[in-house]
Order: sequence, then structure tokens, then C-alpha cells
Amino acid sequence: MKVIRLHPGKDRSLLRRHPWVFASSIAKGGADSGETVRVESADGQFLAWAAFSPASQIRLRVWSFEQTERIDAAFFAARLRVALERRRALGLDLTACRLVHGESDGLPGCIVDRYADIVVLQAGSAGIERWKAVIADALQDLLPGTRLYERSDAALREREGLPAATGWLRGGGDTLVEIAENGLRLQVDVATGHKTGFYLDQRDARARFADLVRTQRLQRVLNCFSYTGGFSLAALAGGAEQVTSIDSSAPALALAAQHVARNGFDAARTTFVDADVNATLRRLRDTGAQFDAIVLDPPKFAATPQQVERAARAYKDINRLALHLLPPGGWLFTFSCSGGVSAELFQKIVAGAALDAGADAQIVARTGAGLDHPLSLHFPEGEYLKGLLLRRS
Ligand code: SAH
Repeated sequence: MKVIRLHPGKDRSLLRRHPWVFASSIAKGGADSGETVRVESADGQFLAWAAFSPASQIRLRVWSFEQTERIDAAFFAARLRVALERRRALGLDLTACRLVHGESDGLPGCIVDRYADIVVLQAGSAGIERWKAVIADALQDLLPGTRLYERSDAALREREGLPAATGWLRGGGDTLVEIAENGLRLQVDVATGHKTGFYLDQRDARARFADLVRTQRLQRVLNCFSYTGGFSLAALAGGAEQVTSIDSSAPALALAAQHVARNGFDAARTTFVDADVNATLRRLRDTGAQFDAIVLDPPKFAATPQQVERAARAYKDINRLALHLLPPGGWLFTFSCSGGVSAELFQKIVAGAALDAGADAQIVARTGAGLDHPLSLHFPEGEYLKGLLLRRS
């Protein structure tokens, strides 16, 4: 077993059970991509078993802090079983669910989402890449009758020095499946959809939005960055009269339009705009349009810490423009999924946007990802998604 020795004092975050070690903390030692190593403090004390990522700034990701643990096929099967049990115990519908949420489930770099009978694996670290076949077998054992598709094409693969990898790992056939969410029927294409196919993390926010539309009897809804129409369908289910969806992805909008028909809603209640959100919000402002509720669920504007400042300006811009389109009493459900933008910073950005728009608003609720995206106490980076439900005064 290869040993990695840390610089003096660099054992602190591991002692607090944070699962990452940066390259700059390492004094000596090396290993192959994804190889399991023994991590020691400067004075030779055992700290953890970890996977080595030679190309990444996050050089080590911890598998276990227990010295007696063996990192083998049984270890991965056990971690996967625990992740599934955790969700079963919470009463979640496991057929449209994130089954494994990386670090927060003790499997750094491992994302597993399930859509109907397709399980999608994203191997985002050298360690998971190395154990991929073992993980695939364990998932097939734990979830009999499912097919397994790989979507390891996220940008983070590059930072790990790994090429993109997509396609069937077990089974095959059509990559388009139907899931049920909050009583609605949605189609997910695991080969061509964003991320692993769908934004499961907004399930609870979409349910909340349907409730809001219903209880407040909101009629005119604008859904910005609609993707395949999750929030649009929620608004229709809540009884909205007119729902406008904006997205720059034509295939996503095509699926959104299909979802309207599939769920039995009248297409006359919907408008789809294939365009840039920022430009469209400006145009709507110039024409004096008004909405009772607006959803702003943009993609990750800051992918790295260096991009946070520019991202802050982009978030401020769209929030300011959206506030212009709301009459007093109107609702704004606004989100950031940038890990580098904290909840506190996001609130400041939105407050700045309100000042610039000359509009005051109250925070009625704060939201985050659902229970299938657990948060580890020791890994605050896992809290990437934050939402603010605001009411304009
Ligand atoms: N709210 C969605 C998820 C949104 S993901 C849901 O509930 O499923 C972000 C979406 O923003 C993607 O569909 C992407 O195509 C779209 N997008 C990214 N940049 C855009 C832009 N500048 N203008 C319009 N849409 C954009």
C-alpha cells in the first residue's frame, strides 16, 4: 500500500472529517490514478484511506477514516447499500431519485441517479473511475431489473485528467424513459439530457411552487431557464392561466411542450420562448409586461471560485430585470446552483438587485435540494443549491 505523507498541520481538515486533501498539503508520496493510498500526518499517524488523483488539485479523496477498513468490492457494495437504505427510510420514491450524492454519501465523485428502470452513473473522480466496474456490479445487485447508463461527461472529468465516457454499462435500448414527479409525468433522456438527464434536485421546490400558485391563485407565470418545463408544469397543475417558459435549448423546450400535452393541459395556456433569458427579460420590460410569479433557475454561473465575481453580476442582472416585471404582491422564486456562491452571498446579490430595481421584497422561504441530496455535516461544499422565495412589497 502506498503512503502519502502530509505537511505538518495539514492534517487538520482530515481530523475534522472533511474528505478532501489539496495537492499543496502533500509532503511526499504518489500513486497511480485512482489508486487507494494510506494517508499519514507529518509524524506518521494514520489519518485515512483515500483515492489518489494525480491530475487534480483535489489530490486525495477519502474513502474511510477507519484504519481497520478494507477498500474492496465489499466496501463499495456496503456504501451503496447504505445510501439506498437512507433514502428508503425517508420514504422517497426511488424510481425518480438521486441514489448516491457523492461526498455526502461517503463516495466522493460518485453520482447515481435513477429514472424509472434506468440507473445513471457519473464517475467524477479518479477513484470512482478505477472502481467503476465494481460499482456497476453492485448497483445491478442492489437494483435488480434496472439498466445502467454512464454519463461521465461533466467538466470536472477534465480536472481529474479523465476523458469523457458515456454509454450503456449494463443492458441497453431506448434512453428515453418516463418518471413521475409530484403527480406529473415527465420524460427524461439519459443520453441527451442535461447532467444525468434531469434536475432532480428541484423536486421539492417545484412542489412548493405548485402549492404557491394554487393557494395564491396566481394566473400569469414566467418560468426562466425552464429546461423541460418542470416549474411550468407545476404552475399549470397549480391552476395558472398563462405560463411562459424561456430556455435557449430547443430540444428541452420541445420536451416541455410534449409534457404539457402528456399531462392533459391545454396548450393554449402555454408559450415557449427559445431565446436568451437576459435579452428576453429586457424585451418584456420594455413592453411593460407583468407577471404574478417568476421563476429564475439559471445554470451554474460560477463553476470555479475565480468566476464568482462575474457570476454575482450575472445573478444581479437577471434578478433586477425580473423584479421589474412583478407588480406589488408578485412572487419571485430565485435560485443559484453555484457552489462558490454561498447562501449569504446570494441573498446579498438579490438584495442589491432589489435596490437597483427600486423594489422591496420579503423572504418568505429559503429552499435547498431535496432529501435525496443529503448534506454531510463535514462537507459544507455539498450545499450548492439555494433558493429564495420572495414577495414583492
Ligand atoms: N428549472 C429547470 C432546470 C434549469 S437548468 C428544471 O426545473 O428542470 C438551466 C437551464 O437554463 C437549461 O435548460 C439551459 O438550457 C438554460 N440556459 C442556460 N443559459 C441560458 C440562457 N442564457 N438563456 C436561456 N436559457 C439558458
